[in-house]
Amino acid sequence: MAARYVEISAEEFESFAEENYFEQIEYPRAREIVYAREAQAGHARILIFSSIHIGNGKGRDVGKDAVRVIVQAKVDSNNVDTQTVNVSSETWRVIWKSKRVHRVKNWRKNLESRIVDAIDYVHPDPCPECNNAMILREGKYGRFYSCIMWPKTGCRGRQNT
Ligand SMILES: [Zn+2]
Repeated sequence: MAARYVEISAEEFESFAEENYFEQIEYPRAREIVYAREAQAGHARILIFSSIHIGNGKGRDVGKDAVRVIVQAKVDSNNVDTQTVNVSSETWRVIWKSKRVHRVKNWRKNLESRIVDAIDYVHPDPCPECNNAMILREGKYGRFYSCIMWPKTGCRGRQNT
């Protein structure tokens, strides 16, 4: 099935971002406009890669590039890996990625549902044991939130959903 792509203007995207409590941020090496919103104060954030080109405010190669939502957590420098990006002494690591959001007529609805998934993925409170982010996991007895540092540090901090 061939999707029918639509052009999303920088203004349309900006107002969508505002309505969903996102703010534009500077993101190292990004060539598209990136928006951010806190997922768990100081420890995790949600980013939207808009596919809107920074230079000319236009969608990049309409149809070829999709909008993406990711969640990043702040980790201490002893735990950096290849997916880590350094932002002025703050270190963030990608911990969740959405399915791509194609630039089709329903892009707002589709993007909103990815944002809801991202919000669900991170508990609004930090780990009660070590103060890192807590993320949604699937267990034998259902879904629960547990410390992102498990199993790296062995922290067993958790919260029910
Ligand atoms: Zn912990």
